[in-house]
Parts: sequence; structure tokens; C-alpha cells
Amino acid sequence: MPEIAKTSLIDRFNRRIDYVRLSVTDRCDFRCTYCMAEDMTFLPRRDVLSLEEIARIAGIFVNLGVAKLRVTGGEPLVRRDVGQLFQQLGALEGLAELAVTTNGSQLAQHAPALRAAGVTTVNISLDTLDPERFHALTRTGHLHDVLAGIEAARAQHFPRIRINSVILQGSNETDVLPLLNFALDRGLDIAFIEEMPLGQVNLAGKPLEFVASDEILETIARHHDLQPDTAPDHGGPARYWRVDGGPSRLGLISPHSNNFCASCNRLRVTAEGQLLLCLGNDHAISLRDLLRAGASDADLSEAICRALQDKPEQHVFAQPDQPQIMRFMNASGG
Ligand code: SAM
Ligand code: SF4
Repeated sequence: MPEIAKTSLIDRFNRRIDYVRLSVTDRCDFRCTYCMAEDMTFLPRRDVLSLEEIARIAGIFVNLGVAKLRVTGGEPLVRRDVGQLFQQLGALEGLAELAVTTNGSQLAQHAPALRAAGVTTVNISLDTLDPERFHALTRTGHLHDVLAGIEAARAQHFPRIRINSVILQGSNETDVLPLLNFALDRGLDIAFIEEMPLGQVNLAGKPLEFVASDEILETIARHHDLQPDTAPDHGGPARYWRVDGGPSRLGLISPHSNNFCASCNRLRVTAEGQLLLCLGNDHAISLRDLLRAGASDADLSEAICRALQDKPEQHVFAQPDQPQIMRFMNASGG
């Protein structure tokens, strides 16, 4: 196969892509209100990439210079035999960071295998510490399962564990400080995420419920000492602070109030093999169709490099005149 330079993944706006998020399923055992409808129809299995196809695509990206892969979903840990995929990804030469984003419900049983496979970073979603509110927000989930998952991850000493919390007006605003303290007590990082308008959950006139990051920051700053953390290893949309001089970092992910598109370093591959160039736009090509039509690794590499030139300059969430993006978050992997 012709050698494609490892620096090929640079777009029209001179952004270097070194991070790919792989959604391995659109299915989930939760139905979080901001992510899914209560009654979801999932993709037919034949439309979803096989684990072998995902591993092949991942290998091509790493060959093109991608240093970080994140496995997400849907809920990645509900996919049967997903442990095999982690093993294959962990063995890719040139990969510096293997991450997973999970709702934590099944993490207790998976944590040792993930660690053994070489996973370095675990993000666990947790929006409240109140069991009833947790059940209401996730529609099906139980807080104690996720807490057990977090403890199992801590016991494995992953280099980095971060709690992800979506804060919604009139729902879990009062959870900000308890969630932060939960993370601080355990030496974990925590990121508060502004809700993004994706999928039909935001249709039918449902108003956006996000709480602006600055509001969250003000609430926290009234109780804690915050120092901006400018370590260069972030490579993501979160802005970080050190809290009370300890090891935990507070992150704020603010698609509405702080546009981070200029430093975007990532691409996404959906469960059905769409290469998504931007979470907030519809630009995509089907890697699955190319794979299943017999494309070689060189063909796929070229298609990826060509598609990258269509990566939009910025997302369109904050622009009311732009069409609403119709994907559910579970389909694109967040
Ligand atoms: N199921 C896993 C989980 O919940 O962590 C991984 C997939 S989930 C789509 C990835 C992240 O996206 C989670 O942290 C979740 O809270 C976040 N998320 C889902 N819907 C969102 C939305 N509408 N706006 C902002 N974040 C959202
Ligand atoms: Fe499932 Fe994660 Fe979406 Fe919640 S946020 S419904 S856990 S995919």
C-alpha cells in the first residue's frame, strides 16, 4: 500500500486531526432524557460496523497519525464481545491514548479487562447523586450500579478518570456542588457539559435546558479556590481549572458559550460507519460502504484525507438560522 504521510490529517483551516471517537453501538441500557427519546428504534444489526470493521478503520486512522482513540456509543459496554475490540485497539502501534466513555452501569464487571487491554482514560457519565433523580434522568438506570462502576475503575488505577455531568435547568442544578465534592473526595476529574441540541429530543418545542458554564463556574468559585489549568495535554473542548490546589481538575465544556471549533482536533465514526466531520454539522461519508465494496486500506486512507477537506469551520448549534441537526447523541457518540 502506498505510504500516506502521517501528517496527512490536516484540514483547510490548518487543524491537525489526531483524535478519533469511535461509536461502537447506538444501543444503550439507559434512555437519558437529553440524549434519547423514551421509545427508540435502533439500527438493524447489519447496518452497524462489525468489531473487525471498527478495528480496521481504527488501524487506518492510527496509520494516518491519530494518537488518541475514544470508544463510545450508545453505551459501548453493552456491545457483545467489545473486550476483544479494546484488546485490538490497545495493541495498535503508535496509539498514545485509548479512552472510553461509558454510563458506568456495567463498568464494575469490565474495568479489569479494560485496564488489561491498555485503556488509559475512562470518562463516566453521572448527572446526580440522588437515586430518584438519577432514575428520572436516565429513565432506566440505577445509581448504585454506576457508583460500583466508578469504584471498580478507581481500584484499577486508570491514569485518568473523569466524571461527565450534563446540568439541566430545573432538574439537577443543585447537584453541581455535590458532584464536584464527590470527584474531589476521590481525586477524580469532573467536567460539566452544556446540553447540545441534537435529535428529536429537541423537537416538538422542547426548550433547550442547558445551564451556561459560566453560571456553573460562578457557583463553584463561591465555595472553592480555582486556578486555570493550562497544561498542554488537554487537546479537547474542555477548559480546565485546578480545584483547591488538589489533583482533581474541573472541566467546562461549553458549546454554546465558548466556541472551541478553532482548535478542533477530532473526527467521529458513527456506529454505522459514517465518518462525521463535525458533531454540529451533517458533513459525512460512509466508510462502511467503501469497506463493504472492497476498498483497500490505501483507498480508505485516501477517502478519509479527501473528506477531511470538507470539515466545516465551526458547528452550528448557536446559530438559529441554521437547520437543526437531527441525529440523536447516541448515534454520533457525543
Ligand atoms: N453512554 C455513554 C455515556 O453516557 O457516557 C457514552 C455515550 S454518551 C452519548 C457520551 C456523552 O454525551 C455523555 O457524557 C453524555 O452525558 C453526553 N450527552 C448525551 N447527550 C447530550 C446532549 N444532548 N448534550 C450534551 N451532552 C450530551
Ligand atoms: Fe445512553 Fe449515554 Fe445517551 Fe445516556 S447519554 S442514553 S447513557 S448513550
